[in-house]
Amino acid sequence: MPVAHVIRAVLPWRTDLPEHTECGRDLANVPGDTITYAEFHEAATEYTALVRSYQRAKMKIPALVRRPNICKTCWDKAAHYPSWDRNPIRRLWRHLDQFGYFPAGRDAERMCRELWAMARLATRHRNEFNALVAEMDLGYQRD
Ligand SMILES: [Zn+2]
Repeated sequence: MPVAHVIRAVLPWRTDLPEHTECGRDLANVPGDTITYAEFHEAATEYTALVRSYQRAKMKIPALVRRPNICKTCWDKAAHYPSWDRNPIRRLWRHLDQFGYFPAGRDAERMCRELWAMARLATRHRNEFNALVAEMDLGYQRD
């Protein structure tokens, strides 16, 4: 049974770039299946709840209870870096973290230009920006 890879959630302003999996594979050339972040989250939540129920009951986890067949690297990354809608800080961190301490290269330069452009947009449209910030629903979730 092929391993499924998790499609990396993109930053909302970067939807024009090629998509990748959480483990870094180009989405166009992924061997096996792919699942969305939402599908991963559902499978991981269900599996974790099942494992915890056995742990709470101090029972051995039956051999039939297996972790969903999802790439280990994808699982780790998706578990630590939720989607933009769930936690934008962590999602942005995921993208910025790939550049390391000394960002270099075309993608790092593009990210710098994007962040400067967003800051400039906020400055140029201060009232509209402040109104948007005030009306944002705090759907932010710590997980
Ligand atoms: Zn993967």
